[in-house]
Amino acid sequence: MLALGKLLELTLAGHEPAAKIQLTPEGARLRWLAEGALEVTPAQAQDNGLDLLLSAGIHGNETAPIELLDRLLRGIARGELKPRTRILFLFGNPAAIRRGERFVEQDINRLFNGRHEQHTGFEAMRACDLEHLAATFFSKPGRTRLHYDLHTAIRGSKIEQFALYPWQEGRARSKRELARLNAAGIEAVLLHNKSSITFSAYTYTQLGAEAFTLELGKARAFGQNQQVNLELLEQRLQHIIEGREAEQQSAELEGLQLFAVAREIIKHSDAFQMHLPADIENFSELPVGYLLAEDLAGTRWVVEESGARIIFPNPKVKNGLRAGILIVPADDSHLA
Ligand SMILES: [Zn+2]
Repeated sequence: MLALGKLLELTLAGHEPAAKIQLTPEGARLRWLAEGALEVTPAQAQDNGLDLLLSAGIHGNETAPIELLDRLLRGIARGELKPRTRILFLFGNPAAIRRGERFVEQDINRLFNGRHEQHTGFEAMRACDLEHLAATFFSKPGRTRLHYDLHTAIRGSKIEQFALYPWQEGRARSKRELARLNAAGIEAVLLHNKSSITFSAYTYTQLGAEAFTLELGKARAFGQNQQVNLELLEQRLQHIIEGREAEQQSAELEGLQLFAVAREIIKHSDAFQMHLPADIENFSELPVGYLLAEDLAGTRWVVEESGARIIFPNPKVKNGLRAGILIVPADDSHLA
């Protein structure tokens, strides 16, 4: 296997490889760009025009998706997986990955779309670097751009695997991409309705990529991910990389559940209190009238929407950040 196929090993060891460029027997080029960043360029005659950004470990303890990217890259470096797409592999937060923690100083996935400029420290610099790496990768005109940012969640979920679809004014969501996710084992998609500061929101709004945050199960330590079943996603990624994806049945979204954001719960002060059990699962339903949270000055968050569910509840976030999202079922009438 080509040494650059061991990007995860290099990253875990904090090593810079001596040789930055290597070629597979089929003529695909692997190029190490920076810590945790490697670009794959297929031989020109093989290139099918897709630019695919695969990122994982934006939160350092999300081992199942990190291991998935490691397997794909090793497959390419061994010549078993024959790429027909340009690919950028990114391990998001190497320092946190080495520690097996979600972050070192702060959550990188709240530092994109320029937000890193208002912060200092390691993670702010890394978010800036990741933006530049993605922007350079997605700078070639006339190509199709796709980004999957792979995550695992802190808590369990009533719906194990789901995607978050960013929002941009006047831009229609792609039914074809939803069908592709459905085929990859994703059971639900949350359609955002305002701009955000996550990595996928950056590549979607600033770089014109189709981009998704994929939540793939519960975070566990390296080697303990047997319960996170990524088989369908891994197969689909292999097919995308090799340009041999089966055409989707005219964008059938059978079984795919769509949700829309009803409200984001924002924590304003240290007095913020959330009235949910600590181990509540994502997508838990909340009845109308339920007192979800309270904050200073008599602020009350009461559920008014029928069919409401909660995802990403986290009362420990910093003041001013989102402590949870209330979502409601959505239909697919606004898809293109
Ligand atoms: Zn994450």
